[in-house]
Amino acid sequence: MQRITIHINNSKLSIAQAHDLQKVYAGLDFDILLHASEAESNGEDDKEVENVLEDAVINGDSDVYIALANELPYPLNDKLDVFALLPALDQSDALVSQQNLTLTKLPYGARVGITSLHQKNKLKKERSDLVFARVDAEVENLIFLVDSGEVDAVVVATSKLESLNLTHRISEKLKYITHSLQGHLAVVGEKSNTVLKNKFKENDIRQNWGRVVLAGFGPGDKWLITKRAEYNLHRAEVIFYDDLVNEDYLNRFCARKIYVGKRKGQHKFDQQEINELMYRTAKKGKWVVRIKGGDPLIFGRGAEEYHYLQSRFIEAEIIPGITSAFAAAASSVIPLTERSLSSSVVFLSGHDLNKLKIPKADTLVFYMGASNQMELANRIMAEGWSGSTPVGVVYNASNHNQQVYRGTLREMKEKGSGLPSPSIIIVGKTAQKQYEHQEKWLYTGISADDFKAEGHVVHTPLISIEGIDLSAEIDDKINRLNAYQRIVFTSRYSVHHFFRLLFDAGKDVRSLSHLKIDSIGKTTTKALREYGLAVAPLSELESSAAMVEVYQHNNISNENVLIPRSNLGTSVLPDGLKKLGNNVSLIKVYHAITNKAIIKQDLELFSGVVFTSPSTVKVFVEVYKEIPSHLKIICKGAETKKVLQDIERNKCGNICRNVI
Ligand code: SAH
Repeated sequence: MQRITIHINNSKLSIAQAHDLQKVYAGLDFDILLHASEAESNGEDDKEVENVLEDAVINGDSDVYIALANELPYPLNDKLDVFALLPALDQSDALVSQQNLTLTKLPYGARVGITSLHQKNKLKKERSDLVFARVDAEVENLIFLVDSGEVDAVVVATSKLESLNLTHRISEKLKYITHSLQGHLAVVGEKSNTVLKNKFKENDIRQNWGRVVLAGFGPGDKWLITKRAEYNLHRAEVIFYDDLVNEDYLNRFCARKIYVGKRKGQHKFDQQEINELMYRTAKKGKWVVRIKGGDPLIFGRGAEEYHYLQSRFIEAEIIPGITSAFAAAASSVIPLTERSLSSSVVFLSGHDLNKLKIPKADTLVFYMGASNQMELANRIMAEGWSGSTPVGVVYNASNHNQQVYRGTLREMKEKGSGLPSPSIIIVGKTAQKQYEHQEKWLYTGISADDFKAEGHVVHTPLISIEGIDLSAEIDDKINRLNAYQRIVFTSRYSVHHFFRLLFDAGKDVRSLSHLKIDSIGKTTTKALREYGLAVAPLSELESSAAMVEVYQHNNISNENVLIPRSNLGTSVLPDGLKKLGNNVSLIKVYHAITNKAIIKQDLELFSGVVFTSPSTVKVFVEVYKEIPSHLKIICKGAETKKVLQDIERNKCGNICRNVI
């Protein structure tokens, strides 16, 4: 069998470690070469020794070298790779002291030799009186420092004492937690030598470790996550997420979900804790996804997490996300660059203005600047930007409650109060209003699907619909459909909810076979088609008054008419039909209620508004107090128009504007 050459440092510890390795890989044959440096290293040329060992592998003079995993450089030379990480010996640090005294028994002000700052910080917590001296030497020399009285004690990795058969020198194993790689021996070889790497695989503890995927979620809209991130969420066993990630969306994945954000009332995880949690979870063999808002490498601390894991040999991958600046630009149509206006853009953090440096660029994009708006605007102006520079602020870009504010730097400074968070602030000529070339329409009804306008339609429903459960009263009416000759549907909602209740009552469309069906409006007629009912429109005009006229024109009287509708229907239709001598029965099949979470828009940005029912007009006036005069108005239905005109008449004694 081919022999494997190991180059090691000429020290007792390295020789002992090489023997440890031989025991672990009893099936492999090793040639151990001692690095030919002068005698025992005194520690100062450790760095040099390390380079010699690395170079020997890179140059092909040896196949592998061994080192304690926590003492390997990070990042490792990119021509090298860790072929195996062996199971840890004892991971603790040990105290070696004169007369075997434990930490608490050391005399007041004792001198303790340490090899890392971590050791000092931990020991200081227990014994603030101790005096620490940094010592760097081979283990035997450290012990000699104690025996010769130069120091009262030294701190040494227990694993090193074990390898050297010096455990009898341990006065106490210290209780604090050490570096997670302490005690692990690593075998390092040349990266492309996969044949050799495979030989070491059997004892590599990383075989059973999981991995961590650091993925960007994008700005919030679930359609803006990458396929690769979504694939990983499906594969994940544990998902760590924070505030900028949509929880509803995450719930569809079966992984265990751990919130590590900063929401009030919940444990606040600091970065170190998050890193450690991910590390430990992956070490248990789990597929971990750490999902972050936007892109993980833009103000996301993704690199910190990546290096924490990689330096501990956890496989980590970064998946990019759409950063919120891109979403803000797209949804507000504020370009980040624009042929004639901006040829450079910088991304900045507005969080700590002391650290802020504004480079020369045409467009500035601020993250985390919302709560600092006044100081931020002041600062930008102090750097020479004019107060009239346009500013666009996009709150919750890509989310259902996104809002866009526009103004100038001066206005941003004078407005005073903080902007809502999270927001992206875009400063520069491209944020000028003229770039909103499209007309913008505010649609207030429940469904904007059928509304086509020149320009952009923003759908902010002012009312919403709630179905009504089948009650004894409704059941009774449905069971007595035979008693009616006609049924009038006033909207698509009345159609859908009537049929829902009909089905709930155990009946179907056959119960309507004897009825004459009247429909107000095209969308209502279209909805009836979905239930197999082709109804010829009686009137082109979409209003209750027009329906009354149709009844009059056709001399329809003395009939029993059923009208399924909402709680908000007006009296025009029932009263009109009654006047013609018909019996009218109303059946409430759904509630139209004021929307509980109305998003108040900046009406300045709109050119028109669409009202679809009298209640949309009423709720609009409640929410916005008035209908600003610059808005064009489209009204659906004569009743809606009438309610609007009544409101306008009350306000200005006249009908103030044209309604389409
Ligand atoms: N990694 C993230 C940024 C995290 S810093 C990214 O690439 O987007 C947090 C800041 O991001 C917030 O203060 C805010 O400025 C911005 N932000 C995050 N999501 C946002 C959104 N949907 N709309 C507007 N700004 C958002």
